[in-house]
Amino acid sequence: MEQKFEKLEKTRVAELDEVLGQPFHVLKDGFVRVVDYMGSDSSIVQAARVSYGAGTKKLREDEALLRYLLRHRHTSPFEMCELKLHIRVPMDVWRQWIRHRTANVNEYSTRYSIAIDSAEHTNPGEWRTQSLTNRQGSAGSIDPSIGEGLTAQETEFHRLSRELYDKRIEAGVAREQARKDLPLSTYTEAYWKIDLHNLLHFLELRMEINAQYEIRQYANTIFNEIIKRWVPLTYKAFIDYMIEAMTFSGLEIKVITEMILGNSAKVKELYKEFGWIKGDGAKNANSRELFEFEEKLEKLSLPFPL
Ligand SMILES: Cc1cc2nc3c(=O)[nH]c(=O)nc-3n(C[C@H](O)[C@H](O)[C@H](O)COP(=O)(O)OP(=O)(O)OC[C@H]3O[C@@H](n4cnc5c(N)ncnc54)[C@H](O)[C@@H]3O)c2cc1C
Repeated sequence: MEQKFEKLEKTRVAELDEVLGQPFHVLKDGFVRVVDYMGSDSSIVQAARVSYGAGTKKLREDEALLRYLLRHRHTSPFEMCELKLHIRVPMDVWRQWIRHRTANVNEYSTRYSIAIDSAEHTNPGEWRTQSLTNRQGSAGSIDPSIGEGLTAQETEFHRLSRELYDKRIEAGVAREQARKDLPLSTYTEAYWKIDLHNLLHFLELRMEINAQYEIRQYANTIFNEIIKRWVPLTYKAFIDYMIEAMTFSGLEIKVITEMILGNSAKVKELYKEFGWIKGDGAKNANSRELFEFEEKLEKLSLPFPL
């Protein structure tokens, strides 16, 4: 018997349609805007059920299924949704962004066109100090009185580097060579298309506190302005399972269990085994893992065992 197929309608999400093409401003001169999209929360559950029966299940059941999929990392249904963004971003941020290989990218060409005449500016109160616990991160701020001088130097440097570039172009130097001394703070633009599964992976890594402040601003904007409107059930589930959730290693679970049992000698033994305390019993200030464990204990309002 011949199989019957009902007519399908293209999925539209009214909340996202309302902001289609509208730029969400990020940093001093950057933005993210939605160019196009495919799918919605229902496309995810539809793919999971491999059925065309839109509206046959209640919203509550859809949400439960979607949460199940995310919780158990059954990721392929999330790949049914796609998002195309137009972004404007400083080149140092772009350099981190482009490491996410699962997107389709087309970037503004400074071989073909004149480089965008805009560079990310840093206000005197925005210079950050080097973190002492995380070699890749920053913590705290530079004194604004010192920041004044740093900002003045930056402004002068941006002016000089642009002047140099413009003079090379005027002298007839090829754009591909004239650009070589532009700073990494120079803005670039790109079209960036990615499926929802890989976008959530990008957001998990780039909204995380250890990611650089600047890329976090873009990730937070995509999450709070775009994902929230586009796939609200996924947005909620992602907060629950990725942002507000915590994972514990086997060792951490052992330590917490011994803590609850009041077995401090065993806790000490475990700390020793993993180098969290040194021979003299003092805590190992260089252990990043111990630092992160104590952060988790703080979040749970649990005392430090040692
Ligand atoms: C806080 C932070 C610090 C970082 N520091 C550094 C650094 O110091 N130096 C540095 O070079 N990078 C650094 N990175 C970049 C990081 O190592 C990843 O390259 C980047 O986050 C992209 O992640 P991904 O490969 O998971 O994502 P995607 O490229 O989007 O890939 C998604 C997933 O697809 C799979 N995949 C994709 N391509 C391949 C492949 N060729 N082979 C196998 N599996 C594949 C993997 O499972 C991967 O997780 C840092 C990232 C973060 C978030």
